[in-house]
Amino acid sequence: MAGTFAGKVALVTGAASGIGRAAAIRFAQEGARVFCADLNLAGAQAVAAEIGSNASAVEVDVASYASNQAMVDAVLAQAGQLDIAFLNAGFYGAAEGLDTVDEAFFDKVVAINLKGTFGGIKAVQPVIAQGGAVVVTASAAGVVGHPANPAYSAAKHGIVGLVKSCVDAFAARGARINAICPGGVETPLIGAADVAMIDPQALPRVPLRGMGSAQHVAEVALWLSSPAAGFITGQAQVLDAALLSTFAPVI
Ligand code: NAD
Repeated sequence: MAGTFAGKVALVTGAASGIGRAAAIRFAQEGARVFCADLNLAGAQAVAAEIGSNASAVEVDVASYASNQAMVDAVLAQAGQLDIAFLNAGFYGAAEGLDTVDEAFFDKVVAINLKGTFGGIKAVQPVIAQGGAVVVTASAAGVVGHPANPAYSAAKHGIVGLVKSCVDAFAARGARINAICPGGVETPLIGAADVAMIDPQALPRVPLRGMGSAQHVAEVALWLSSPAAGFITGQAQVLDAALLSTFAPVI
């Protein structure tokens, strides 16, 4: 895929850490000018500096429509075009089951993951380039239930619904939109406490064993954004080493 995105402009949210950071670096390696957007501006600036002169940092709170719009306006003001948007910022929190989850936690999880993705989609759709691509990060928990964090699972299911519902709007601009649904990935989102919480019986049931890496997920986001995936839109691509294909009550 060397040079796949030469001349293209890519926006990545959640770029300060984990999957977003890995994807921002890979988009740049493939020739894109990259905008690293995050609530953590210092983190986004550090990733942009690591990438070099073809990257810039943008501060965004995806939970705000106005902030999403300002982010997209900043990209257009600086680069004049937007070809790829990887709307990936998300929040898991300390997992809260049905018995303990409170209103504030539910609202925060939905605001960042679901409303945040919708705000990004709304801001990007009117300006995405012909032939452009949007990839949003849902989760394996957006395809099956996740009893340890039902708010997160509901928000991620909602993201899959958004993708299916927005296909026509993007197709009208000659652009595509897809979701990715990773299983467990080793990033700061999944803290040591969460890893410890995961049923020790669950991971051995993953046919390829263990958790995925940010790199695994970034490569799928890149491929879905590329012309090689030009006939794929409206899909929710699971990448979980077949965890969901086996019997596993805990993700
Ligand atoms: P991470 O914590 O390493 O990165 C998430 C990034 O999102 C951080 O840089 C954070 O500052 C940013 N962010 C949080 N709230 C924000 C907001 N309101 N506005 C802008 N940026 C904000 O986590 P990650 O694992 O790289 O997660 C990336 C995406 O992948 C998330 O949507 C997450 O739900 C999803 N995901 C992760 C896993 C996993 O196991 N790590 C599995 C499935 C899906």
